[in-house]
Amino acid sequence: MTENTARLAANIREIKNRLQRAAAGREVKLVAVTKNVALETVRSALDLGLTCLGENRVQEALPKVAALPLAEWHFIGRLQTNKVKDVVGRFSLIHSLDRWRLALALQEQAARLDIPVRVLVQVNVAGEEQKGGLDPAELQDFLAEAARLSHLRVEGLMTMPPYSPDPENSRPYFRELNRLFYACRVPGTTMRYLSMGMSGDFEVAVAEGSNLVRIGSALFAGVN
Ligand SMILES: *Cc1c(COP(=O)(O)O)cnc(C)c1O
Repeated sequence: MTENTARLAANIREIKNRLQRAAAGREVKLVAVTKNVALETVRSALDLGLTCLGENRVQEALPKVAALPLAEWHFIGRLQTNKVKDVVGRFSLIHSLDRWRLALALQEQAARLDIPVRVLVQVNVAGEEQKGGLDPAELQDFLAEAARLSHLRVEGLMTMPPYSPDPENSRPYFRELNRLFYACRVPGTTMRYLSMGMSGDFEVAVAEGSNLVRIGSALFAGVN
């Protein structure tokens, strides 16, 4: 085992332990975020037992998805409508449905291929200007409209709280998304995944109900 692989193995073990402790018996799914991570390192991560991988840029993701088609790939970043054709059919879950025009573009491409497209709706809980995501006040109506799209499957919610070095500052946003997750029961959608928590704040997110965490830097720190 090379030094890099040993480091990666130790990181994975540590994150899985921390996740298990935070989950306290609940099932929490780990998405390993491989943006800016070299293909060979991603391959090692799969060999070491990670199964679900996330990317936030289509251009960077496509060669990795093509090289490692057996992994479960998630798309977690802002998605432009002109890239929808590259994403539908290649990623098993899109975390970042953040506007109606994107819902329509996903629906159109999925209908063309006659396959379902599974998505989470991204909610901008803090109302940050520069961030994607729905205003919580629009969520209920958005879900009701999305439920009518034949090939779109809404399976939950995602959020990214405002950046802060102190994870406790994220807690109110996680708590509010969890509340919306249980409040928004719309026929034709399923609230199965609550995607929240990254390297710096996943334990707080899990404590506030997350069952899908997206972790990059803590897994790949010190590995090149
Ligand atoms: C990069 C990224 C992550 C992972 O962030 P880390 O702090 O590296 O764990 C999670 N979610 C999204 C949407 C990202 O772009």
